[in-house]
Amino acid sequence: MTNSLRKRVLVTGGAGFLGSHLCEYLLHQGSDVLCVDNYFTGAKDNILHLLSDPHFELIRHDITFPLYVEVDEIYNLACPASPIHYQFDPVQTTKTSVHGAINMLGLAKRVKAKILQASTSEVYGDPELHPQPEGYWGHVNPIGPRSCYDEGKRCAETLFYDYYRQHGLRIKVARIFNTFGPRMHPNDGRVVSNFIVQALKGAPITLYGDGSQTRSFCYVSELIDGFVRLMESPDDFVGPVNLGNPGEFTIRQLAEKVIELTGSGSSLVLQPLPTDDPRQRCPDITLAKEKLGWEPTVSLEEGLLQTIAYFKQRV
Ligand code: NAD
Ligand code: UDP
Repeated sequence: MTNSLRKRVLVTGGAGFLGSHLCEYLLHQGSDVLCVDNYFTGAKDNILHLLSDPHFELIRHDITFPLYVEVDEIYNLACPASPIHYQFDPVQTTKTSVHGAINMLGLAKRVKAKILQASTSEVYGDPELHPQPEGYWGHVNPIGPRSCYDEGKRCAETLFYDYYRQHGLRIKVARIFNTFGPRMHPNDGRVVSNFIVQALKGAPITLYGDGSQTRSFCYVSELIDGFVRLMESPDDFVGPVNLGNPGEFTIRQLAEKVIELTGSGSSLVLQPLPTDDPRQRCPDITLAKEKLGWEPTVSLEEGLLQTIAYFKQRV
């Protein structure tokens, strides 16, 4: 830090769903926040309400190119997260994960900043072990349509650990499981936003496969709390640590819950299951509980009600 007592925090992907909530949280905590985004999937609308805060700065920048700024902490979130969006330009997705990580790690090394990587449960692929603990190495197809994201994120983790071992960087790696809440884009393509938007419009709910695949859904405010706890944890705890809600639901159960909570008359329509769609996913959060004192308490229903209220204003 320089002469100010405020921490200077860089959030890449700060105009996205999770990034915008994180910027807001950090500003409330009293940090100076620098938000970097190329608006590929994020939007200025997500952070418009922060622009009048003198402690908030915004830079349009693609992290596959180097960035020179002075900061104390970096949260590296930049990367499309929805399968539809990350498969739209798969080469750019890998570049964002890998070149982006190299650029942000290089920056962290130069300015001696602490750096947190937003990794993903996708590093476990279509898991053979259930629930997934951090020690599980995963079951990932290296050449499929999801590989640009899964392998990009795995390579980013490798880079983080090599900078840690080789250069003594202070790193933190969070493996995020499906997270949802207000500010997901209505056309984001991920399951929670798709189902809510379809239900509110009275359109058919698109169930991929037979809907028996499972996911575990974490409400956004709890995930952000987990991020900040991890960043503030002692330097000798680097992770990787699972952050997610261990409540596990089939996608069909999610669809039925959304219909019930919206009071929608929508019907379910079956569509083909995308290639390599993981059959089941549920985090083992023993490590997060022990090291961060972190455990989600917002139920799926509570989180859905908040998210439905948000989308009602927009669709
Ligand atoms: P999002 O798509 O809403 O946000 C990603 C942001 O990164 C967007 O604002 C986008 O414009 C920006 N971005 C993309 N490429 C960029 C680039 N090259 N340079 C600068 N900015 C770029 O997704 P999200 O849900 O907020 O996810 C944020 C991070 O968390 C991602 O890294 C994602 O992989 C990770 N994650 C999210 C979830 C989840 O369920 N939300 C789960 C696992 C991991
Ligand atoms: N899904 C679905 N209908 C949709 C969108 C997604 O049935 O309209 C399914 C998808 O096949 C997957 C699960 O919901 O099994 C979660 O998909 P999402 O894209 O949200 O994230 P993923 O966890 O697969 O990365």
